[in-house]
Amino acid sequence: MEREAKKRNAPVYSFKGNRNPFQILISAILSTRTRDEQTIKVSERLFKEVREPRDVLRMGEEKLAEMIRGVGFHRTKAKNIVKLSKILVEKYGSKVPDNIDDLLKLPGVGRKVANIVLANAFGKPAIAVDTHVHRIANRMGIVDTKRPEETEKELMKVVPKNLWHRINRPFVGFGQTVCKPIKPLCGECPFAEKCPKKC
Ligand code: SF4
Repeated sequence: MEREAKKRNAPVYSFKGNRNPFQILISAILSTRTRDEQTIKVSERLFKEVREPRDVLRMGEEKLAEMIRGVGFHRTKAKNIVKLSKILVEKYGSKVPDNIDDLLKLPGVGRKVANIVLANAFGKPAIAVDTHVHRIANRMGIVDTKRPEETEKELMKVVPKNLWHRINRPFVGFGQTVCKPIKPLCGECPFAEKCPKKC
């Protein structure tokens, strides 16, 4: 599964495969401020030992931090993952909630991570706006926003609801290969003629 994600330049959390909602949540948290290759490598290592919240609690914060070393802010993430695992066990019967309000109450879970979980773990209509989605939607003139939260709201107005959960993956692939953050490859871009930002 990870190899497939690597090959397609897609974020690892996009592939449900044999991943359960808890693992998708953890991958999404690990992926923030971290390159996909590193998220994939660390997730692969971690998920040999972790399938559910109790596995995290058994492991403890120290070992978890060691296992996820290599992702950005690994110590803070380890602390948050332990805290949220405890909450999931005590409050949600070890299940990941499938609604945005409860997800946003979990430590270390912001809108992007919550929407990734809703879309990829539960197939719910949610737009996961990361740096690629935010940048490309603005460059292409689909939205005119300053913050990812605004981009999410604006995209909801123009994209049919049945496509919300599918937006993130192609944008990420496109952002990594063509519409890169610095020096986008506009000369190779199929949307260049219509793109207001083409360079
Ligand atoms: S033309 Fe350039 S800026 Fe516009 S979408 Fe294509 S790569 Fe991005």
